[in-house]
Amino acid sequence: MDALAKFKLLADNAELEPAEEVSLRPAPHIAPCGIEIRDGRLETSSQSPISNLQSPVPNSQSSKRNKQAELGIHHAKMPGGKTIPLLKTLLTSACERNCFYCPFRAGRDFRRTTFQPDEMAKSFMDLYRAGIAEGLFLSSGIIKGGAATQDKLIDTVEILRQKHQFRGYVHLKVMPGAERPQVERAMQLANRLSVNLEAPNDKRLALLAPKKHFLEELVRPLQWIEEIRQSQPAHLGWNGRWPSTTTQFVVGAVGETDLELLSTTEYLYQKLRISRAYFSSFRPLPDTPLEHLPPSDRRREHRLYQTSFLFRDYGFDLEDLPFTSTGNLPLEIDPKLAWAQQNLLENPVELNRAARQELLRVPGIGPQSASAILNARRIGLLRDLDDLRDLGVQTKNLKPFVLLDGRRPNFQLPLW
Ligand code: SF4
Repeated sequence: MDALAKFKLLADNAELEPAEEVSLRPAPHIAPCGIEIRDGRLETSSQSPISNLQSPVPNSQSSKRNKQAELGIHHAKMPGGKTIPLLKTLLTSACERNCFYCPFRAGRDFRRTTFQPDEMAKSFMDLYRAGIAEGLFLSSGIIKGGAATQDKLIDTVEILRQKHQFRGYVHLKVMPGAERPQVERAMQLANRLSVNLEAPNDKRLALLAPKKHFLEELVRPLQWIEEIRQSQPAHLGWNGRWPSTTTQFVVGAVGETDLELLSTTEYLYQKLRISRAYFSSFRPLPDTPLEHLPPSDRRREHRLYQTSFLFRDYGFDLEDLPFTSTGNLPLEIDPKLAWAQQNLLENPVELNRAARQELLRVPGIGPQSASAILNARRIGLLRDLDDLRDLGVQTKNLKPFVLLDGRRPNFQLPLW
């Protein structure tokens, strides 16, 4: 099987987690080792020469994008803001482990394929030189243990960096069972590393992936990364910077609560300085031990994302959140709006005097609009909603919670 056929076969069965995607697709599924399951199978053809991807025919742009998607190439936003076509693929879809939610679990009947490191590196470079892919997101099923698999992932990136002189974006998975020196080496080669915790704690993980060890195999590598970032100079990292880190959780398969998920997420953001936690709603997959379970409510995933951003960018803590008695967030209301209803209706924020952290608590004010307000205040008073709109502030939700020069803006209390 040639390399393009292998890429298509891998993309045909699964795609990697949303990670750097420009926008989250409407229905990402569960994510084993960073892999998402697709609803259906793409049609594959035995012919997909690179020249097809380059042909300047009418509608060639959408045709090119469709063909890129067939190979597992997605348009992705880099940490610096630039958007590039990112090849998201695996060294192998074979795996010796048996995670309950995973399409690649050992013993499941489907066609598997494997790349050798030099083959993967060369095949990616063919796509890169043809202008079809500009970055690589690389994961793998596990064969002969996590450390042996991690060696192959590292070999691949070393070949890319050293033999092919590739200086572009690489997001590399850290395998369960990887060793500290491997993690350190990966940090010297990749722009981003990720370790998928899948579950918020060891008890829940045992119900999802009984052969994975929560603390030793999953949390520990993230701790190593942060220790290394803190103790060693950044010039040792790729391009003089240490890689950023992300993780992902499967949501709704094993009874975990939002409180459990967000407690772990808060720890990851505050102590291990991850860049982002991803949440993937559980969807049952045929021929897996969880196939009888119902899919989880997608609104829950959305609320978890909103809340995790409140931790990361808005200074919120776990105790600020409006958990119900079941340990979950209400699905019907934005968590920041719920907090404001409980805390700001009687104590509105004076936008001409509030500190940045207070501004960030107001619905409709994000990091950018908080900066705009602080800058504008140096020039003069903010007197009405038009002043805010001129700064690009969304005023729809903030009216009940603010004062402008001592006065509440005109508003009707919405029927929340
Ligand atoms: S270890 Fe194997 S079975 Fe488990 S999530 Fe990763 S690929 Fe799937």
